[in-house]
Amino acid sequence: MNTFELDQSYIAPTYKRFPVEIVSGKGSLVKDSNGKIYIDMGSGIAVTSFGVADDEWTAAVEEQLHTVQHMSNLYYTSPCARLAEALCQRTGMSKVFFGNSGAEANECAIKVARKYAAEKKSAACSTIVTLENSFHGRTLTTLAATGQDHYHQLYQPLTPGFAHVPAGDLDTLKELCSDGTVAAVLIECIQGEGGVIPLDPTFATELESFLKEQDILLMVDEVQTGNGRTGKLYAYMNYGLHPDVVTTAKGLAGGLPLGACLMGEKVKDVFSYGDHGSTFGGNPVACAGALSILNRLTDSFMDSVSEKADILRSMLEGAPGIQSVSGMGLMLGLKTVKPAADVVQACMENGVLCLTAKDKVRLLPALNIPDNLLRKAAGIIRGVCG
Ligand SMILES: *Cc1c(COP(=O)(O)O)cnc(C)c1O
Repeated sequence: MNTFELDQSYIAPTYKRFPVEIVSGKGSLVKDSNGKIYIDMGSGIAVTSFGVADDEWTAAVEEQLHTVQHMSNLYYTSPCARLAEALCQRTGMSKVFFGNSGAEANECAIKVARKYAAEKKSAACSTIVTLENSFHGRTLTTLAATGQDHYHQLYQPLTPGFAHVPAGDLDTLKELCSDGTVAAVLIECIQGEGGVIPLDPTFATELESFLKEQDILLMVDEVQTGNGRTGKLYAYMNYGLHPDVVTTAKGLAGGLPLGACLMGEKVKDVFSYGDHGSTFGGNPVACAGALSILNRLTDSFMDSVSEKADILRSMLEGAPGIQSVSGMGLMLGLKTVKPAADVVQACMENGVLCLTAKDKVRLLPALNIPDNLLRKAAGIIRGVCG
């Protein structure tokens, strides 16, 4: 059987895959099993930050692979310690817990919030408020956190203790918080899966000051928006926020599974021995990859991300068949006249891989996509939309 047949026979059909098998790639170009080349405008859903098989990243990963590929968290290893230091230095956060995915990073954040509130306030102070249309993961608890009913329907009962408010609705949120049962508010600065919808900056600032006043934790889910994607290291930096907890994953290790929950001053001592753990969390190979990525996300590199974003935006904004462009940096959503799925399909036929998010076409190219490929892809997308 070929890959397609094997997959159909043996893989649980949770993904509606395109009939394309990617066999190799370099940077922002990938090749399918027929030898057709595509410009990759999705980077594995914001994962391959520096593209496919990037030389510097591969060298860092390979070196660690030949050194020690895994140790249990009962022993110290250097890559995770150095990565945690770098993440704290770059964000001003105080402690890091490493897991393997975005969902796990959010699970950790939820545990941090519940324990902080239980110890500081009361056991009844356990509710986590998130925004409607949010996405926080697929585990039963992060599904409960996800503010989209259609993900919930067949998996009841979900973990209790979650409430959802419309983005921008501070009054409803304040109302919910008034009985002292809310431990934390978890937000995405730009809703990714929800359709590339940025949070209103005024709401974000007012939310932060309300939460500080009430000693309710502000937690930001940077799983998709983080690690340079929006032209800053983390998207909350565009909003001038000072979160108590930041979660990230996707692009963190540039293509290896790694999630992180960053804890600020207020919550840095919440966990003690035995409170949380993960067998693979902080794996040295993943952390070596992440460290090489983080070291390259310098201020000047991030400026180049913003410049690329300007190129992409200016080519797409106002183009025939494109009604609006949302998002920030190299995380853009296109509202198109044609259905998003049709645009993605036609782009693929024309050699460009794009994503959808709800009714939008979503673009998440590698942060170092060469300008000429970016222009070429934007031209093809324009042509398809018009
Ligand atoms: C993708 C995503 C998650 C889930 O990450 P996984 O690694 O798939 O568990 C959580 N939050 C946001 C904002 C995401 O985009």
